[in-house]
Amino acid sequence: MSDFDYDLFVIGGGSGGVRAARIAAGHGARVGVAEEYRYGGTCVIRGCVPKKLFVYASKFAEEFEDAAGFGWDVGESRFDWEKLVDAKDREITRLEAIYRRNLERAGVEMFDSRAVVEGPNTVRLMTDGREISAKTILIAVGATPNVDANLPGGEHVITSNEAFHLSDFPKRIVVAGGGYIAVEFAGIFSGLGAETTLLYRGEEILRGFDDDLRKALHEEMEKKGISVVCEDVFTSIEKAGDGLVGKTRQGRELHADKIMFAIGRRPNTAGLGLEAAGVKLDVNGAVVVDAQSRTNVPSIYAVGDVTDRVNLTPVAIREGHSFADTVFGGKPWTADHDLIPTAVFSQPEIGTVGLTQAEALIRHGAVDVYRAQFRPMKHTLSGRDEKMLMKVLVEPETDKVVGVHILGPDAGELSQVLGIALKMGARKADFDATMAVHPTAAEELVTMREPSERLRA
Ligand code: NDP
Repeated sequence: MSDFDYDLFVIGGGSGGVRAARIAAGHGARVGVAEEYRYGGTCVIRGCVPKKLFVYASKFAEEFEDAAGFGWDVGESRFDWEKLVDAKDREITRLEAIYRRNLERAGVEMFDSRAVVEGPNTVRLMTDGREISAKTILIAVGATPNVDANLPGGEHVITSNEAFHLSDFPKRIVVAGGGYIAVEFAGIFSGLGAETTLLYRGEEILRGFDDDLRKALHEEMEKKGISVVCEDVFTSIEKAGDGLVGKTRQGRELHADKIMFAIGRRPNTAGLGLEAAGVKLDVNGAVVVDAQSRTNVPSIYAVGDVTDRVNLTPVAIREGHSFADTVFGGKPWTADHDLIPTAVFSQPEIGTVGLTQAEALIRHGAVDVYRAQFRPMKHTLSGRDEKMLMKVLVEPETDKVVGVHILGPDAGELSQVLGIALKMGARKADFDATMAVHPTAAEELVTMREPSERLRA
């Protein structure tokens, strides 16, 4: 019997923490987990899952329009925000219950409490002040939306946290930021009927993604009626009547019912006691870890967004799983951060894996670009002016496919399968040897014969 209350105490009941807790318990460890808000964490409670439900909701307006080209007369339609929020909340409550049940079944003890670290093997529960000892502590507290603390009137803005529970649907909204969350929510609000502006400080939205997709998405968003404003930022926000007016550096005055900031997220380490316990944090407050998720304090580990490595749910889950197998299961392995496929649920959607064109050229000095841009078959009858874009990037010397980038319907689904191919080291010849599935959009991936460009550094 060990001298500690628990073999493992996890702070944070989100994707990474819950996976680690369950797997460690399955290996026979005595595990406790503390969560201050709701089990499931950001992804389930106020991130990926409710966001995707909102994306589905926001697509119906276009579906109704497109239906006319196929002979349907849908008639009048009306959207009820309250009904959507209620339905979403019911689903999230169901999912949270599943998270709790799974932890319970695994024999993990749950605490509905904020917990802080008090030493290398000590945690304090803030609800009742109880002190808990643990041989190993796992920090899995995730991240929280950034706001601009120096912005006059910044207290009037909302973040994605509040966007899921607005009492009234905004008729006009401005979303500040140009990353995943900003483009996804701009699409959601616009699709649901809000007059939507996206305000981004840089030259083009979605920095870090392939440049052609960034431009193409920008154009498609504009076609849907979203005003995408680049190279500008808010300098102040004021109340105006029952709405808000945001002034910008370029002299714009943007009037809106709501202004949402989606300008990145910061690790949730404030007040967590990590510095006092000697755990090293970086300048942004992220816990510094090695590939095995170890901090500089041997008994303390960290996984997921709090470590600010690759901030995606499936990555946090893998990191939590590998930690638990390694430390408690005698099965050491490392979460692999290379070639992670990802989707942006913008409208149209982005699915991507591997290097962008610019990265490929820098890394390999040469890249053959296979590029197809076309009107998806559905829109031949719907009449919608929307283009799909696909790029396959090939390193010419080895014929290896080093990146695939897709903008269009189901791009996220495609990126999952392409992720397998690229992880297996697929070559262009393998794509060419694969029979097309007809009629699909994806068949373009295996029928592009000649590069549209042969780029050499
Ligand atoms: P991102 O890091 O994706 O984007 C942040 C955006 O805010 C960038 O456009 C950035 O500009 C801009 N920005 C940063 N600071 C400021 C500032 N002070 N003033 C104005 N603009 C600013 O963060 P998100 O908040 O969109 O998302 C957080 C994370 O959540 C993402 O990194 C992603 O990993 C994850 N996520 C994943 C999703 C998915 O998988 N589909 C969906 C949603 C979130 P610049 O480019 O110039 O730095």
